[in-house]
Amino acid sequence: MAYTYDDQNIFARILRGEIPNSTVMETEHTLAFRDIAPQAPEHVLVIPKGPYVCYDHFALEASDAEIADFTRVIGRICAQLGVQPGEGGNGYRLIANAGNDGVQDVPHLHVHILAGRGLGPMLA
Ligand code: 5GP
Repeated sequence: MAYTYDDQNIFARILRGEIPNSTVMETEHTLAFRDIAPQAPEHVLVIPKGPYVCYDHFALEASDAEIADFTRVIGRICAQLGVQPGEGGNGYRLIANAGNDGVQDVPHLHVHILAGRGLGPMLA
C-alpha cells in the first residue's frame, strides 16, 4: 500500500514547532505530548517523528531503530505515569485509530495512552 502523507496535518505542524504542545517525552525518533482534549486523567499521544500515516504504514516501512524507539517510549511513559499494573499501578489502554472505520482524525500515526480511571469495555 502506498500512502500519501499530508504534511499539513496538525501533528506534522507540532513536529515542526508551528503549534505548541505539552511534551511528555522526546527522543531521536519519537515525540509524546498531552492530548488537547483529554478523555482520561492521563491522556498522552505518542507519535513517530517520521511521516507515517497509520500503524501498518509505520510497522512496514519504518526502520528497526524507529520502531524500537517508539515502542520503548510508550513503555517508559507508562512507567513514568506509574500505571503499570504489575508494578502497583492500575493499568492503562493503548489505542491506535486508523482510517475511516477506525475513526482516525489526524493522519499521522499516534498511539493514545489512556489511564487514571476505569476505562470500561473496549468496544463501545
Ligand atoms: P484520533 O481520533 O485521530 O485517533 O485522535 C486525534 C487526537 O488528537 C484527539 O484525541 C484530539 O483531541 C487530539 N488533538 C487534535 N488536535 C490536537 C492539537 O492541536 N494538540 C494536541 N495536543 N492534541 C490534539
